[in-house]
Amino acid sequence: MPKSAKGTRPRAYRDRRGFRKPPSAGAGPWRRTNPIFVIQKHAASHLHYDFRLEADGVLKSWAVPKGPSLDPGDKRLAIEVEDHDLEYADFEGVIAEGRYGAGTVIVWDAGPYRLLAQDEYGAEISVHEALARGRLEVWLEGKKIRGGYVLVRTKMGGNRNWLLIKMRDECAAPDRHPTETEPYSVISGRTVEEVALRQG
Ligand code: MN
Repeated sequence: MPKSAKGTRPRAYRDRRGFRKPPSAGAGPWRRTNPIFVIQKHAASHLHYDFRLEADGVLKSWAVPKGPSLDPGDKRLAIEVEDHDLEYADFEGVIAEGRYGAGTVIVWDAGPYRLLAQDEYGAEISVHEALARGRLEVWLEGKKIRGGYVLVRTKMGGNRNWLLIKMRDECAAPDRHPTETEPYSVISGRTVEEVALRQG
């Protein structure tokens, strides 16, 4: 758990959970049946995208230097990093110099996700078990990114390295490059540059 994350959160942060609000009143606890994913664009010493999946009460996290692709032919390196608190999912702002992850963070995309993971007999398995097996398939319902993605552990460069790959489905779109064409936050509409200017 990154200790520095808590200290850097803006005070009003608990009120800014737009994407977690239930779709309709009386539908029950939305988050109980719909775990969330979030992709935070993080302009740190090296720009990257933090891909996080809610599981077992935390955010399982990977740092993806190039960000997600919509082209099933692309294999994006995803480096497993520390679990983060669920509350970090809507963090946006500047992490001060000298702290873990110093730089600027925006919520680049977020939404519910569904686990597609199955064992060899077609039975559903948990995120925990899928990760232990080195292969996790999820269906993302973001604002920019939709469809099936698979995370596969790779032996190259140590066991923290995974590949994030778009699955071949109707949401695949090799000609779309949202990391380039849609750089703004899905919460505030700001780019990392605008957030850095405002708080820097
Ligand atoms: Mn990061």
